[in-house]
Amino acid sequence: MKVCTVIGARPQFVKASVVTEQFMHAGVEEYIVHTGQHFDKNMSNIFFSELGLRKPWRHLAIGGGSHGQNTGRMIEGIESALLDIMPDWVLVYGDTDSTLAGTIAAVKLHIPVAHVEAGLRSYNRSMPEEINRVLTDHASALLFSPTLAAVENLQREGISGESVLRVGDVMYDVALKYGSQAGESSRILQHLKLLPAHYILATIHRQENTDDLSRLKCILEALSSSSEKIVLPLHPRTKSRIQEFQLSLPDNVMCIEPVGYLDMVMLEKNAAVIVTDSGGVQKEAFFYRVPCITLRAETEWRELVELGWNTVVEPKSVEPITKAIEEAKSRPGNLTARPFGDGNAASLIAKRLACSCN
Ligand code: UDP
Repeated sequence: MKVCTVIGARPQFVKASVVTEQFMHAGVEEYIVHTGQHFDKNMSNIFFSELGLRKPWRHLAIGGGSHGQNTGRMIEGIESALLDIMPDWVLVYGDTDSTLAGTIAAVKLHIPVAHVEAGLRSYNRSMPEEINRVLTDHASALLFSPTLAAVENLQREGISGESVLRVGDVMYDVALKYGSQAGESSRILQHLKLLPAHYILATIHRQENTDDLSRLKCILEALSSSSEKIVLPLHPRTKSRIQEFQLSLPDNVMCIEPVGYLDMVMLEKNAAVIVTDSGGVQKEAFFYRVPCITLRAETEWRELVELGWNTVVEPKSVEPITKAIEEAKSRPGNLTARPFGDGNAASLIAKRLACSCN
């Protein structure tokens, strides 16, 4: 059984790491194609070394262009890689341009696609991620959904039956695996002189926030008006927009380079509150039971809002954000619910693919 995994962005390295491990146990021959969407040392390489990901079989080094340029070049590169091995399956993750490119390249060669994190919806078609995930789901032969809500979203679009499997969330598997290990190997709190529960962790990278001057200004102003120290690992896109817009960073904001996964886990686990527009970080906040503010108009992870762990605030004005941060500090969420499965999503995915010659 040959599976070609197409990944290219930071969250995909995190998700794929646990599935790669299970492929080894299940005797699946895995070929990783890295599109190059994220390429810096701390956006890519560190995840391969820290999380035990298999070295990419092909690295396409495609990045830095527009969505259309990147996706087109990726399709071409992935197609050529697929023609060399003709795998039984192509496995894609999440909702990036790499996900869509892997899907299109595969289905045009009649290679079936399996999609991890299938069925998520923001119902906001102006997000590039929403387009990528909808198109990928509709072209996939196997849909691995993390939650019941995701399965129901697919059903509403006419995708159901044996092709849809609710396996749980691979990011929960990753959190279980590395949650305690991070405490042993990461020294980030000492390095940044941070006391547990005495800082806010913030991550901002969604295009709708970074590329819109008024939103980005609003977010930085809201962070600056907090009485807490803010730790902000800066995504490359956010960094370049801050420079382009000539925005200054407030004094209480500690801007750092993107960190590796284990350092990130430590920062998340010990934060008083997490403020983010990331999909993955919202869930990790919940895994470590840290209240989260999501700076968007909506979230794909509605269960976190319903369970009281997440508040969605659209960054259009400062006051609602600062209010939400203050309220979050004393908000107790539901401690018993487990909407993301049993922590064995990766194993279920590997077994399902291992036993199917499509
Ligand atoms: N992450 C990390 N270092 C950072 C910021 C994020 O390791 O400096 C991890 C984070 O813990 C999560 C993943 O990257 O596992 C989320 O990626 P991102 O926010 O870029 O994408 P999204 O989840 O929004 O697709």
